[in-house]
Amino acid sequence: MATDFDWTRSQFHLPEGMIYLDGNSLGPMPLATPERVARTMQPEWRDLLITGWNKAGWHMKPETIGDRIAGMIGAEPGHVVVGDTLSIKIYQALAAALALRPGRGVILSDTGNFPSDLYMAQGLAKTLGDQTRLVTVAPEEVADHLTEEVAVLMLTEVDYRTGRRHDMKALTEKAHAVGALTVWDLAHSYGALPVDLAGCGADFAAGCTYKYINAGPGAPAFVYVAPAHADVAETALQGWQGHEAPFAFEHDYRPASRVAKLRVGTPPVLQLAALEAALDIWDKVDIEDVRARSIALSERFIAGVETRCPQLRLASPRDPERRGSQVSFHFEEGYAAMQAIIARGVIGDFRAPDIMRFGITPLYIGEADIDAAVEILADVMSNALWDRPEYKVKALVT
Ligand SMILES: *Cc1c(COP(=O)(O)O)cnc(C)c1O
Repeated sequence: MATDFDWTRSQFHLPEGMIYLDGNSLGPMPLATPERVARTMQPEWRDLLITGWNKAGWHMKPETIGDRIAGMIGAEPGHVVVGDTLSIKIYQALAAALALRPGRGVILSDTGNFPSDLYMAQGLAKTLGDQTRLVTVAPEEVADHLTEEVAVLMLTEVDYRTGRRHDMKALTEKAHAVGALTVWDLAHSYGALPVDLAGCGADFAAGCTYKYINAGPGAPAFVYVAPAHADVAETALQGWQGHEAPFAFEHDYRPASRVAKLRVGTPPVLQLAALEAALDIWDKVDIEDVRARSIALSERFIAGVETRCPQLRLASPRDPERRGSQVSFHFEEGYAAMQAIIARGVIGDFRAPDIMRFGITPLYIGEADIDAAVEILADVMSNALWDRPEYKVKALVT
């Protein structure tokens, strides 16, 4: 069934006069979300109180929603669980993967990876002691650094700044050939392009739901563990909800079976309601259609910007197959230029040192939005409208 993008667009609240090219950072609000969250508050929370954990199914939601997510990313049912934030899920996945490769010390990643992933790896390496260390190399050199010293290859499939995309299948195969495991971060993949974890042979993966999935600020993350590791993988964060029998309140930790052991503490029930409302839209979406339309819109945007704004230099790969669903440009005064277009209703974001980043999200962005955004960007660039002091003052969140 072909995806009806007029219908998907009609499912979101898009503020009047705003062209939102930042859904790769925080997706817009589905119209159904406030009511869904309100229902979880009342009658559920109001009337059920603590019985809601059973009666409204709150306790199992990290796993039932995990299964919905699994179906979207080529994961086996029972192998994805929802909760916490992406940084925490990366930490858990990485710790579990390292423990499965005793005697090897290297976590291999790339210099383009998201800082939080690298920070988590550094912190874990410090906790584990001398033999564990993080090695980062240029993205295009990752394959060459896969040696028998590597315990875990930890990568973000799509670079958060430039949209450059790693070949998940080829790198996973290469990692396995040297006896290493993989941890894939799907922050800019899930909801942006087709993901086939089982088909790629991925060992662990994690992703978030507030970017392309549109589950709202602070929406929980998810983690995947492959069937081959699910029974033996250990969790570094032995929370009570990942215990085999949380309500036995035993003194000692016993891991739950399979992916449930990667639960930590009490799930965020209100945020899970917002996630369910967002996933209801995805039920009617074919990700292959999203990918095709994302490429068409991205190509249109690049062609328009390159024709009209010679000051900007493409930072993303030119080959659409090597990109995710965002398009970035270098411009020395990128921060000020981004503020100038935001003031005119086109919302993108800035990533240090000089990147203007635009998310292409076909669920609610179409050709007319792309053309209008190019028009505004061209006006700002050709008339140097960015060159004002107020556009150069950096805000807390860029
Ligand atoms: C957005 C993002 C994160 C964010 O992690 P949180 O813990 O959810 O804040 C982590 N990794 C990557 C690659 C990201 O793009």
